[in-house]
Amino acid sequence: MSVNSQVADVVILGAGVIGLSCAYQLLRAGQSVIVLDRQGPGAGSSHGNCGTLTPSHAPPLAEPALLRRALTWIGRSDAPLYIKPRLDPALLNWLLRFALRCRASAVEESTRARAAILKQSSVILESMIADSGIDCEYRAEGLLYVFRDYQALDEYADLPAQMQRLGLSAKLLDRAQMHAAEPALNDSVIGGLLHENDAQLRPDRYVAELTRLVLEYGGQIVEQAEVRSFERSGSRVRAVTTRDGRRYSAANIVSALGAWSPKLLAELGLAVPIQPGKGYSITYTRPANAPRLPLVLKERSVCVTSWDSGYRIGSTMEFSGYDDGLNERRLAALERAAREYLVDPVGPTVMERWQGWRPMVYDDLPLIGLAPGFDNLWLATGHGMLGVSMSAATGVLIRQLMLGQSTDIDPSPYEPKRVVKLKAA
Ligand SMILES: Cc1cc2nc3c(=O)[nH]c(=O)nc-3n(C[C@H](O)[C@H](O)[C@H](O)COP(=O)(O)OP(=O)(O)OC[C@H]3O[C@@H](n4cnc5c(N)ncnc54)[C@H](O)[C@@H]3O)c2cc1C
Repeated sequence: MSVNSQVADVVILGAGVIGLSCAYQLLRAGQSVIVLDRQGPGAGSSHGNCGTLTPSHAPPLAEPALLRRALTWIGRSDAPLYIKPRLDPALLNWLLRFALRCRASAVEESTRARAAILKQSSVILESMIADSGIDCEYRAEGLLYVFRDYQALDEYADLPAQMQRLGLSAKLLDRAQMHAAEPALNDSVIGGLLHENDAQLRPDRYVAELTRLVLEYGGQIVEQAEVRSFERSGSRVRAVTTRDGRRYSAANIVSALGAWSPKLLAELGLAVPIQPGKGYSITYTRPANAPRLPLVLKERSVCVTSWDSGYRIGSTMEFSGYDDGLNERRLAALERAAREYLVDPVGPTVMERWQGWRPMVYDDLPLIGLAPGFDNLWLATGHGMLGVSMSAATGVLIRQLMLGQSTDIDPSPYEPKRVVKLKAA
């Protein structure tokens, strides 16, 4: 075999939290695995996200109230949801389909499927962390939704009952209970919800630990290995070739390319309806009065996470294509939101200002399973706002489907063929 060619049981494209979770599961099942990344582990959205693990987020983004709220955000470039005005047929088509999902029956369907994978992922992740000695500042003490406005809080009055129907626990907290639960909140906070099943970790640490485990189990991770093309034979992908001309062949290929998925998979005639949902975060050294629990500042849709090693505020959802610039207005909006709710809103020193692209599918469900028209090309992508939260169960599901094992959860809601189309050659 030429030095420019390598073979494995499985080649995984993308070393984000999803690709690495798949690699870990497949290696433990005895498969040989090569992971290719155009940069390296955690180069994409898996690096600077907020690191919350949130079964509480089972209800999807697309819901009737969002359309109403979105109308008040139009034209505001610092709003939680921003769509850069432009003529982009793929985006317009995506937005139309997203809007059509904002109805009760679709919300119900997505919520059930999201809850199933989120709950399963939390269980697997907790035992993985314990069994494999993963050191990533994991803490499972819940997450708080924080409110400053009674009317906004009232809209969530039914949430505890909804969560209970999903087998999850959320408690409404009044003003005094909120301040007792979280002394880092300022006086303007009037109440909130405690999501008891949620947890947090430090995402860059988690990715580093997954990388360590993949290598320890004999996997290979190739950095600076941008996949450029596929070798196809009928319904099978035989090999991929990277920018430097190296060829990697395998019995199975897993595409875990996050927001980059549509670009590369178009080479195979696959139309993957993923839009990059850009978000921002600012990481600081830890402030003196850092919140004990991860927080969602609800009226501003901003997330706050503290670790022993630091402090992060993050969020915003911007549809501006594959633009990787840092928008100062949106970064400033994060700090402004933190100032509204917190005694000590920012840390003493800024460590990193970051942007990342969430891989957003319009029905807010991930794509896990065979690509339509292929027997050995697996998709593991489209996790949107919840890739870390769903990562462990995604790795297990890919392993179970690929190796013909029985699955822990029903895989049908995540089947790519529901939305991914194979264009005629
Ligand atoms: C601000 C923000 C906050 C978030 N907070 C949370 C949170 O609290 N909890 C949560 O669960 N989720 C959160 N998310 C979402 C989460 O970050 C993503 O869902 C998740 O990281 C997606 O992981 P991934 O592995 O699919 O993609 P990525 O991490 O983006 O990985 C894709 C990889 O593919 C590689 N790649 C691209 N093209 C090629 C190519 N041609 N060849 C080889 N490699 C290639 C890239 O370099 C990259 O490393 C947040 C996201 C953002 C932006």
